[in-house]
Amino acid sequence: MNAEILTVGTELLLGDILNTNAQYLATELARLGIPVHYQSTVGDNPERLRRTLAQALERSDIILTSGGLGPTKDDLTKETVCSLLEQPLELHGPSLEWMRGYFARTGRTMSANNEKQAMLPAGCTVFANAVGTAPGCAIRKDGKHILMLPGPPRELVPMFETGAKAYLRQFTQGTIVSRNLRVFGIGESTLESYVNDLVDLANPSCALYAKEGEVLIRVTAMAPDAGRAGALLEPLLAQLRERLGAYIYGEEADSLEQVVVGKLRRHGKTIATAESCTGGLVAEKITRVPGASEVFSYGVCTYANEAKTRALGVSARLLAEQGAVCERVAMQMAAGIRERAGADIGVGVTGIAGPGGGTAEKPVGLVYIALADRERVWARKLLLGRGGAEREYVRNLTSLHLLDLVRRYLSAPPDGLEGGMPVKELFADA
Ligand code: ATP
Repeated sequence: MNAEILTVGTELLLGDILNTNAQYLATELARLGIPVHYQSTVGDNPERLRRTLAQALERSDIILTSGGLGPTKDDLTKETVCSLLEQPLELHGPSLEWMRGYFARTGRTMSANNEKQAMLPAGCTVFANAVGTAPGCAIRKDGKHILMLPGPPRELVPMFETGAKAYLRQFTQGTIVSRNLRVFGIGESTLESYVNDLVDLANPSCALYAKEGEVLIRVTAMAPDAGRAGALLEPLLAQLRERLGAYIYGEEADSLEQVVVGKLRRHGKTIATAESCTGGLVAEKITRVPGASEVFSYGVCTYANEAKTRALGVSARLLAEQGAVCERVAMQMAAGIRERAGADIGVGVTGIAGPGGGTAEKPVGLVYIALADRERVWARKLLLGRGGAEREYVRNLTSLHLLDLVRRYLSAPPDGLEGGMPVKELFADA
């Protein structure tokens, strides 16, 4: 059985809103192992909606629609589907009762046209709407299935999870189990060359999704039950873990900052941040994670040279001689903030985020990051420029590299942090 996604709404055609429902439904159908052959979008126009639906019925077995279930005149999905399938609409008592309760609970009055939302195709499977008014439904005719879901994503997603997914399972030949590996510090094309032979597998399958600065690897297997699907995945996961080693920073949904805060908490260590070109982004990411207060107490944003000296003790002579963007400055920032905060770890970052300010010697995207503990300090040089307007890109990627450095420092054993400079030598010539 193949599927088609039909999103309804004039604002989608005008580009006023992003079609996130299409993306969500496509991902979920892929997870269920139901191939999607077409996606289409049509405005709130009954004639064009009718023609698009008729075309979808000719070429697809399952059609999922989103939008047009509301109470207003231009919400026409159910009416158009029913007229096309020559199926009457009937009042669905439980949905009407649910809507009355919903309006009472939210202190609003239900208008007569809200009742229209409780009119559903005769004999359909009803999908309750836990967070809104319009129920969704599935209707079957001549071996074809049309599932109608509401437009607002905050209604569509729970309805899909609690109703539509179970309905669609009848079309899958088993249970699908997926696992996600999160990878940082390796470009998508390099990563592909590492796992080239694995991305062609069918079951289990392995897919790469590149996000800014990181790649998500999703491995999926289908089997008669979850246990057997999980067992199919294990050898592939083991191969990926072996090939990618420390490039894998986490599994499932954890972000890099969640992984770092989790590790700091487990090790009972605290961190302090001193930032220049990232303007506090590293501190912002760390404090996004619930429980960050246990590990983070102190972060400064020292943009001007004078601030680096005053707040962190960075050598004024070093700044005058080498400029703010150099390895030693990043190291002194890291050690300076660690000492002043009384933290176990200090991190420092200085660089040129662009778009202006670059030179041949120090181009846009040149960034130094450093990490200091009580004894030693380590630094990394990053070249993140892409030759265009990239300020946000450089800032974001820098913050991720810095978090990754902390993660690697906290790995057992620390990964790629051999050597380093004794802190006492760092300020020796200041
Ligand atoms: P309502 O009862 O809110 O009218 P509905 O099912 O009739 O629900 P629409 O009127 O088509 O849905 O859309 C309502 C809102 O949902 C839109 O204004 C938009 O913000 C959001 N929305 C609709 N379709 C999509 C989509 N494909 N992707 C993301 N958001 C969408």
